[in-house]
Amino acid sequence: EPELSGHFGKLMAWADEIRRLKVRTNADTPRDAAQAVKFGAEGIGLCRTEHMFFDESRIPAVREMIIADSLEQRKAALEKILPMQREDFIGIFEAMGDRPVTIRLLDPPLHEFLPQSQEDIKKLASDMKIDYDKLRARVEELKEFNPMLGHRGCRLVITYPEIAEMQTRAIIEAAIHVKKSKGIDVKPEIMIPLIGDVKELAYIKNIVVKVADDIIEESGVELKYLYGTMIEIPRATLVADEIAKEAEFFSFGTNDLTQMTYGFSRDDAGKFLKEYYDKKIFDKDPFQAIDRKGVGKLMKMAVELGRGERTNIKLGICGEHGGEPSSVEFCHMLGLDYVSCSPYRVPIARLAAAQAAISNRD
Ligand code: PEP
Ligand code: MG
Repeated sequence: EPELSGHFGKLMAWADEIRRLKVRTNADTPRDAAQAVKFGAEGIGLCRTEHMFFDESRIPAVREMIIADSLEQRKAALEKILPMQREDFIGIFEAMGDRPVTIRLLDPPLHEFLPQSQEDIKKLASDMKIDYDKLRARVEELKEFNPMLGHRGCRLVITYPEIAEMQTRAIIEAAIHVKKSKGIDVKPEIMIPLIGDVKELAYIKNIVVKVADDIIEESGVELKYLYGTMIEIPRATLVADEIAKEAEFFSFGTNDLTQMTYGFSRDDAGKFLKEYYDKKIFDKDPFQAIDRKGVGKLMKMAVELGRGERTNIKLGICGEHGGEPSSVEFCHMLGLDYVSCSPYRVPIARLAAAQAAISNRD
């Protein structure tokens, strides 16, 4: 595992003295978290939890949960995932020590969890001891034409609050375990994806806070956690003052925000954007560098509205842009508290944050 030492380490230490922005990392394994800490990450800005659900040992239980007819069946399926999910977070909290760790509840389209092939459906039907035709019909019913704009993010939790209950339990129990066994002052931050309306955030908050506070009270351990949201849907930037009533932090998800502001798919835009550069319609890829006139303007509005409502709201960014120098400078100018990027971009972000502070000295 590479480390920053010698002259490079010294340069980074100078950068750290000058920069105002904190630099966190996007990491969802203890290994990535530990690597990022070596590169100077000051926390996790985004722990995506989806890969944990796609794991081969877990996907059957996830499918059982989606397909289930009753709440009991769904809860039973989630019970199977809970111990593994708790271990995931224990590893991450231990790697991060007393640095803040933002964990995002499940985000991907439900669609992606569905069994695809006939064989998969057959196997699941036999595992679940249900009728094949019935299962196939259910899968058809759940398929979507436009999953990225469909049943994903917080909408999953509105449909299946049990997911938020299980994940909150895993996060809080892991935090308590690490605090008790290692004496580490763990700082979990629970983040909700794809919020577009304050009522979504309030509805889920009721669930999260109830589960978390009951576990904390029962444990007798003193544990503080934050509750906050991604800002990644254009509407969320427009009503950020309302959203701030229910959120202790905002994290800009500029991947989705760019996709939805331009109205083009982050997965497919590459296919036609090349023509835009060749024909000089665009000079930069808006998925790489924040488009200051559009996406950036929405971010600015959200910062002003959010801070207007809650002066101490914590503000960060966890889209890919968080490790791109011109975007880091923009975040500095906006007055964000931190940027978060993939582990190998952390040193770049530290330098860019220092450069931004030097260039914009008054
Ligand atoms: C984003 O949308 O910018 C984000 C960080 O979330 P994801 O890339 O997981 O959708
Ligand atoms: Mg997103």
